[in-house]
Amino acid sequence: MKQNDNRVESTLLRRINERRLLEAIQRHGPSSRAALTRVSGLTAPTVSKAVDSLLRRGLVEELEPAEQALGRPGRLVRMAAESAAVLGVVIDAGTSCVVATGLDGAVTEERTIRFATPAGYPALLDQVEEACRTLIHAGAVFVHGIGLSVPGLVNERVHEIVFSPNLHLLDKHNPARDLEARLGLPSVLVQESDALVLGEWLYGDAQGLGDFAVLDAATGLGLGVMSGGRLLAGHSGLAGEVGHVTVAPEGIRCGCGNRGCLETLATDAALARLVGEKLGRAVALDEASALLATRPADFQHEIRTVTEYLAIAIAAVINIFNPTTLFVHGTLLAGSPERFARVLERVRQRTLTAALADCTIVATKSSKRQGAVAGIIHHLTNACAPTLG
Ligand SMILES: [Zn+2]
Repeated sequence: MKQNDNRVESTLLRRINERRLLEAIQRHGPSSRAALTRVSGLTAPTVSKAVDSLLRRGLVEELEPAEQALGRPGRLVRMAAESAAVLGVVIDAGTSCVVATGLDGAVTEERTIRFATPAGYPALLDQVEEACRTLIHAGAVFVHGIGLSVPGLVNERVHEIVFSPNLHLLDKHNPARDLEARLGLPSVLVQESDALVLGEWLYGDAQGLGDFAVLDAATGLGLGVMSGGRLLAGHSGLAGEVGHVTVAPEGIRCGCGNRGCLETLATDAALARLVGEKLGRAVALDEASALLATRPADFQHEIRTVTEYLAIAIAAVINIFNPTTLFVHGTLLAGSPERFARVLERVRQRTLTAALADCTIVATKSSKRQGAVAGIIHHLTNACAPTLG
């Protein structure tokens, strides 16, 4: 019995060491075993053993270093970029996509398949499965798993999307579980704002940050918060729904059923809707973007309205969560330096001075595709061993 306990303990320790090394490689990029020994604080033999195990499991690969003038350089260890892959699935209103990447998370257009999001759930699942099979076949390498970025409320206790205000076909479904049954690959469901947080943390400017937030102001108004190095989830994973705070009690009907939610006034979709109302017809996001670029004077009032409400949303996040950095994701306002500068001017008037002094506000660089990929990489890393503290 005692011997068994020891064996369990040493397996767990080994897995914890492997997880530490994976995290170090993700943070520092390709590293020699010597460098990993330095940054991890583990002994050289322990690092070697853990790297060998990660190599066997296909999570990392070795790379010949460039010639050096002096000495014999060690080979570099990096996340498996060529010998293995993961898939990222982004389900969204309008357009969805599937991307294949190495475990380094380098997302490319060539390995992305986009399609119009079908009107029903079975058709959506068929399309996603077909795109996954095409990419798996084209890559011809081992696929570790699939990360799915989805809009709406993802209940982590019952493992389903309980409600998706902007894409109701997802209500009461778990596309990760359904895809796993069809493809036999580990698949994880990640709420899209949390996916953006993980993407920014692994591949963007939030590397090494413990307290930051991502506000997604594209279709819906989503919020993901990293607090003390952990994703804020709440009791069931539903925390962060700032978009459904009422700001206009008599306002238009929101996808959630209430009236005048912040997300009906603070997003790219809201601005496109207001531009459309002015023109008396429906205007898609691309067209709204072109109209704002070519005829900005015609839509000053609409831009001002959405600028004001986006500033209220940003100020609320900073006042409540006190992040060191707030990343804002979007096209029409956050994607235009000039318009974003005007949003920030309004934020300065709306935010508590002390909280604002702590916080840098920037437009996000990572995409939902990277978020979906980060979701599965985060899962694979966590699967090594539980986090300590
Ligand atoms: Zn709402």
